[in-house]
Amino acid sequence: MTTESTALASPSSASLVGTPVVPGLAYGPALLARTEVSPAAIEAYGARAGDLGEEEALAAYEEAAAAVAAGFTGRAEKTSGHTAEVMTASAGLASDRGLRNAVRKNLRSGETLPAALGAAVEQFVGLFTQAGGLMAERVTDLRDIEKRTLARLVGEPEPGAPSPTEPSVLLAEDLSPADTAGLDPSLVVALVTEKGGPTSHTAIIARQLGIPCVVGTEGAMSLAAGTPLLVDGTSGAVTPDPDADEARRRVAADAEQREALATWEGPGRLSDGLRIKLLANVADGESAAKAATGPVEGVGLFRTELCFLNRAEEPTVEEQTDIYTRVLEAFSADQGGERYVVVRTLDAGSDKPVAYATLPGEENPALGVRGLRLAKGNPGLMSRQLDGIAAAAERTGTPTWVMAPMVATVAEAEEFAAAVHGRGLKAGVMVEVPSAALLAHRMLEVVDFLSIGTNDLTQYAMAADRMASDLAHLTDPWQPAVLQLIAITAEAGIQAGKPVGVCGEAAADPLLACALVGMGITSLSMAPAAVRAVGARLASVSATDCEEAAEAALAASDPAAGRAAVLQVLEGR
Ligand code: PEP
Ligand code: MG
Repeated sequence: MTTESTALASPSSASLVGTPVVPGLAYGPALLARTEVSPAAIEAYGARAGDLGEEEALAAYEEAAAAVAAGFTGRAEKTSGHTAEVMTASAGLASDRGLRNAVRKNLRSGETLPAALGAAVEQFVGLFTQAGGLMAERVTDLRDIEKRTLARLVGEPEPGAPSPTEPSVLLAEDLSPADTAGLDPSLVVALVTEKGGPTSHTAIIARQLGIPCVVGTEGAMSLAAGTPLLVDGTSGAVTPDPDADEARRRVAADAEQREALATWEGPGRLSDGLRIKLLANVADGESAAKAATGPVEGVGLFRTELCFLNRAEEPTVEEQTDIYTRVLEAFSADQGGERYVVVRTLDAGSDKPVAYATLPGEENPALGVRGLRLAKGNPGLMSRQLDGIAAAAERTGTPTWVMAPMVATVAEAEEFAAAVHGRGLKAGVMVEVPSAALLAHRMLEVVDFLSIGTNDLTQYAMAADRMASDLAHLTDPWQPAVLQLIAITAEAGIQAGKPVGVCGEAAADPLLACALVGMGITSLSMAPAAVRAVGARLASVSATDCEEAAEAALAASDPAAGRAAVLQVLEGR
């Protein structure tokens, strides 16, 4: 397959280059998302507001807060699922009585309204941070609410993504759920951010919407609003002022190609017939039912902890059984085919705090007691979950594989496998820690399969926090060191004759997917929205192409060189 990206694989010197996360070409004027309220406007307002009496100032605050809350409610109505829940919670927080009372108290002690609001928000930030867990997660929302309320007070538009009037490329430092809720892909044709990595909220949303996206693009926010931009979500190039006719021609050809992808119906196979299982990543019964309507052969990652993020107490085995049943029944034999579901046991801790499981107050939670490690101090938590999974498997008859996250030693894998096998299910472990990749051959002596979590494997191999918005160049699964660990794991699978899949975001990258298959990966699990693009790309290449792509990616000096080399292998001949 020749794509229009090829011509742009080597970005021109005028281009900015970031980390490409959703492939495709887009062309449109730059639309800048504002992140701050202008300091001059705040100062001017502060001076004016000094003359307001306490009641007047409080009334102005209440009006602004109500408008911000209404904005969140409007966004909640335009979206669904987790984003809608976050928007509704933010609406509640914006009009919270406690926050209002704190503003009033600060006004009484003589602060101007902007200062009173700032101090009230700081007080709540302190409280939320101290509470930890899910409350601490809301600190970003609080700061967002402060900026929006301030903007309303001073008469500026709320920070965030403005509404485009023509198809545009949205540029931002980074995007929050509030910025992306209800984003219209016919008007926002591409996303380019300065910060954020391949697992950032921006990347996830762009993938869902199917619009080209480049993150970690240094200098993006220095571009002037309205500058025509050509965005290449395959090479990562963002080119200002390209030749307009040429850009339009390329985008049209790319759109035609992407439309053709929509008709790809699976199952996953290379042009010479080698079968690759394409699977979905799901979060609950609803997303599983939706995924089951697509061209997938099952679920490669059911993130069970996402069902419990807002639970204060551990659900009973019966309740867990019901929740897992809803996911498994979407892929039961009654629904046709031989599909299966890989259930991951609770990956609580670090970036996924679960109130009843996560240990509070860890100095460095990403390196702390997360995932399988929680079972050591709380073995009942794991065994009750396994009981629930086994009961759901029995109820639905769906072939059910169970894997543990954050496995670091062969002994851990052995103990986990015994517990899963004891319940009559297939056992595997995730390869997310470099130690697990290095000992993959020994892991495979005790488990039935491996699944590589490239998001965490990259974080731990590169010593780069996956949540850090400034480290996109390191939190990139194309890093040759990460690919080397994947290759070691895949080779162990070939030697053992056991399946080794990839279920991190790397699996959703059509170009990288070819290289992963060339290393010996047997399944790729991803957001359902990415499946067709990956399946169509794999269908266009042979096993030899994939092996050459793997060699090229592994030999490259950095991610950008790896992408260019693989494009050259797959399209350049
Ligand atoms: C991963 O780490 O790649 C993975 C799939 O797990 P999660 O993103 O849920 O940590
Ligand atoms: Mg992980």
